[in-house]
Amino acid sequence: MINLKGLEQHELESLVKEEGESSYRGKQLFTWIYQKGVFNFQEMTNLSMSLREKFSSIWDIQEIRVIKTQISEERDTTKFLFQLSDGEMIEAVLMYFEDRLAVCLSTQVGCAFKCSFCASGLKGWKRNLEPWEIVDQFLQIQKREKDRISNIVFMGIGEPLSNYDHTLKAIKILHDPIGTGIGMRHITISTVGIVPMIKKLAEEGSPIRLAVSLHAPIDELREKLLPIAKKYKIAELMDACRYYQSKIRRRMSFEYTLIKGINDDLELAKKLASLLKGMIAHVNLIPLNPMSEFPYHAPDSKQVKAFQMTLEKFGIPVTVRQERGQDIQAACGQLRLQVEKGKICA
Ligand code: SAH
Repeated sequence: MINLKGLEQHELESLVKEEGESSYRGKQLFTWIYQKGVFNFQEMTNLSMSLREKFSSIWDIQEIRVIKTQISEERDTTKFLFQLSDGEMIEAVLMYFEDRLAVCLSTQVGCAFKCSFCASGLKGWKRNLEPWEIVDQFLQIQKREKDRISNIVFMGIGEPLSNYDHTLKAIKILHDPIGTGIGMRHITISTVGIVPMIKKLAEEGSPIRLAVSLHAPIDELREKLLPIAKKYKIAELMDACRYYQSKIRRRMSFEYTLIKGINDDLELAKKLASLLKGMIAHVNLIPLNPMSEFPYHAPDSKQVKAFQMTLEKFGIPVTVRQERGQDIQAACGQLRLQVEKGKICA
């Protein structure tokens, strides 16, 4: 059976036409699935009984299963653990801000990049998520939340640019105004820095926000933290970022996870500032979310502040990302890992 979830509006229209029905039925199906979050043909009241029967005999609308939710103490973050039909697990996070609701979605099961402080890569990469599995993280969370989710960040498990086609397809679906209608400017792709894929994304011409996980301003240190940095040197990465900015004309962000005694020296802040000179860039400082699996610690808040002020002195806008949901293992892949290891029950 064809799973209708994960199809774009025009694909649904062609599918219904192939069945001898008028194409606006495709639009109706699209609205039911993405705008109303209805996944059961019997509840689609603007379709006749006979159409509901016909459609449900040839197609289905699959769902991923929420197996655990955790709400942070401050109640500003909810983490969702999902099980996929092959038994694999992924995570997504809902974040409440004063003026908006944002979700952080996964794009792969596991991660191939093995960044030295990130839980997602600890057990390696298993597979890419299908477009519908990416979209359904959003739909399942929106279904449980009365306020409209307006922002999406691809900062969950996996590397969005190494599951490029499926991530972009999911974005097209979530962007469609007759469905969830998320503005491209409200979508952020976070990447470990795959140079050719950044250039490819630039060519799409969509105003998707790009966030690059930099974590160090010099190659030698970056290579220790992110193995991919051996392949793409910082100079090459920055060229790709400048190219992206020349095409998309949007402020970019650079993520910098601060790790005590490793990359939090103020000399590095100065080097980072000179690297970003001339760009419309913004730095997200993320104090490390520590895990017992890694030998790293977060710097104290004084050091975080000093690093921030050094960047600001050189005119670089900085946000210190609030440590949301440490109590609920909210950093990438942490909850999945704990459940798989049997430290937490699903
Ligand atoms: N693969 C993408 C997106 C996933 S990670 C990327 O690398 O950007 C989203 C961000 O969280 C990355 O900047 C990542 O380096 C950071 N991160 C991962 N684990 C972390 C941890 N334990 N503490 C702080 N930041 C972490």
